[in-house]
Amino acid sequence: MKGKNAQGSSGFQLQALRGKALRLVLLGPPGAGKSTQAQRLVEYFQIPYISTGEILRQEVQLGTPLGQEVETWVKKGLLVPDPLVAQIVIKALNTPEAGKGFLLDGFPRNVNQARLLDQLLEEHHWPLSGVLDLVVSDETAIYRLLGRGRLDDARETIEQRLRVYREATEPVLAYYQSRSLLIPVDGEAEVEEVIHRLIQAVENLIREKSLANP
Ligand code: AMP
Repeated sequence: MKGKNAQGSSGFQLQALRGKALRLVLLGPPGAGKSTQAQRLVEYFQIPYISTGEILRQEVQLGTPLGQEVETWVKKGLLVPDPLVAQIVIKALNTPEAGKGFLLDGFPRNVNQARLLDQLLEEHHWPLSGVLDLVVSDETAIYRLLGRGRLDDARETIEQRLRVYREATEPVLAYYQSRSLLIPVDGEAEVEEVIHRLIQAVENLIREKSLANP
């Protein structure tokens, strides 16, 4: 198939970026559809995908020392301590691919992690392009999570993860809002409609950024 999807980023986007890398964070409660949409976004815009949740689950499955250390938190739906997650993110950002841009899914999960990310990106002279906030209600999130069946998708764990999101992660939205980086996207629709909204939001961002920094 030819066209935008098959080729990833369209000529327009690549031109608009003018050599600038697209650096995105995707936020939203568990069940918002982040990882599904994240995968579509990285394919479309041809940028590396960094998901701390996916990396942590892999470590648990492989039974690595880090995996053994984080297993209890992941299974209970609690946040893994910041220093352990920091290790993962530092490693992921120190790869040559990350220089081309990236989409971070599942990080930062609290304000402390958001500050750490700022520091890391400053060291690389890599400003964030934008932070996408995939907005869904608790009812939608719970409904979707119950249908998914992942190891941390038991009903009590789902409630726990939503609580953690409201308490620890929601303040991150305000953190980015105050830096004019937050872009809310309504996630209450079919997958195809939501990906369309997200792509639209990123294309607007690219347009604005290249106008702002010719
Ligand atoms: P996710 O796939 O993003 O829903 O993450 C699954 C689980 O991995 C979470 O419930 C946490 O236990 C852990 N996790 C993922 N990302 C982070 C993070 N940035 N900080 C702390 N724990 C995390």
